Amino acid sequence: MAELESFRAEIRAWLEENCPAEMRKPVRGDEDVCWGGRNCEFQSEAQKKWLERCAAKGYTVPDWPKPYGGAGLSTAETKIFREEMAAIKARSPLNSFGIWMLGPALLKFGTEEQKVHYLNQIARGEIRWCQGYSEPGSGSDLVSLQTFGEDKGDHWVVNGSKIWTSYANKADWIFCLVRTNKEDKYRGISFLLFDMTSPGVSTKPILLISGASPFCETFFDNVEVPKAQIVGELNRGWDVAKFLLGHEREMISGMGGDGGIASLGALYKDVLEHDALLRAEMALFDVESLAYRAHGERFMDEWKSGRAHPAYSNLMKYVGTELNKRRHELVMAAGGTEALEWESQRTNEGGKPRAWLRTKANSIEGGTSEVMLNVVSKRILEMPGG
Ligand SMILES: Cc1cc2nc3c(=O)[nH]c(=O)nc-3n(C[C@H](O)[C@H](O)[C@H](O)COP(=O)(O)OP(=O)(O)OC[C@H]3O[C@@H](n4cnc5c(N)ncnc54)[C@H](O)[C@@H]3O)c2cc1C
Repeated sequence: MAELESFRAEIRAWLEENCPAEMRKPVRGDEDVCWGGRNCEFQSEAQKKWLERCAAKGYTVPDWPKPYGGAGLSTAETKIFREEMAAIKARSPLNSFGIWMLGPALLKFGTEEQKVHYLNQIARGEIRWCQGYSEPGSGSDLVSLQTFGEDKGDHWVVNGSKIWTSYANKADWIFCLVRTNKEDKYRGISFLLFDMTSPGVSTKPILLISGASPFCETFFDNVEVPKAQIVGELNRGWDVAKFLLGHEREMISGMGGDGGIASLGALYKDVLEHDALLRAEMALFDVESLAYRAHGERFMDEWKSGRAHPAYSNLMKYVGTELNKRRHELVMAAGGTEALEWESQRTNEGGKPRAWLRTKANSIEGGTSEVMLNVVSKRILEMPGG
């Protein structure tokens, strides 16, 4: 205990000295978020410094081993690090599909050479990744995917297309599910990594209901992928894909947290004085949100130390995203006419309605709520059927 307390003091002092004041202010929108990558444009000197300082100490990925760009912190130390970050409201130095999704999969399935090469790049925010899983007709039934890699000796030639690829037009590399054997549905998929600037890769943004275009259709036309860029065994990419999905769902479940707001009721107390119905709904929401946060803390401890049920992230994803949708419904209900303004300076260009519409996708991305419930009933509740 004494050791952990002295570690806490050390982290507190480091954060005090190194986290710029600007990086302790609430994130206003995507423009305040640093995604790294080759084409990264830092919004300010403070944002750049914050990433560089964290990366130098391994704090962008505090629990990864030091040789792979992390700080080598234990589960208990990582928790303290995150608590101290939250205490000063420090922004995340780096948002990254590499950190949240690919990194854990590489740590488990990658060769030593791949770990040293890719994980260090991810930790420093040098390469921005996107996820090439879904295809037209293969979303929930992902295993039916058709993008094909033809064996050409020392490389594959990949043809096909992906859909809903978040930030494909901004990413440097893709982690991609490719069929390498047409005879076996499950044992015919390989997990490949390749550069988005490879000849034959193109993207086309898709407009979302919120007015933004954060994701794309992605096309592969005779893309050459060297054999060294496979993660895990040939035709066993489904194992890697499922493991990664667990981490994706754990990441998305975080939406069920407080969203930076401890109590919606407290935030809207003036409105609630005159609306008993909304007051009751918000009170119920606040209680459920508190319960979810408490449950989430226990889950994270168990998940990080490998003690959680492997399917539990599906349950957390389901509850977390459904809660987040309800939070935004309530914000809209309490926001009055201002919440309906789409384009105006005083509403930060319709921040509320755009965020509300964006949450509609939460229970679809990373696997739909219906599919999460199927997994929970089969794998956690062990119910019979389909
Ligand atoms: C914002 C956003 C970002 C995304 N980013 C990415 C990304 O970066 N990379 C990527 O690869 N994909 C991404 N996706 C795609 C996402 O993973 C798929 O949309 C999701 O898996 C659902 O697949 P689908 O859209 O093909 O719907 P479908 O699978 O066609 O489902 C349609 C409906 O049928 C229901 N359904 C399907 N099967 C069952 C079943 N067995 N039991 C009960 N109900 C069922 C679903 O719940 C849904 O309501 C993103 C999606 C969104 C919305």
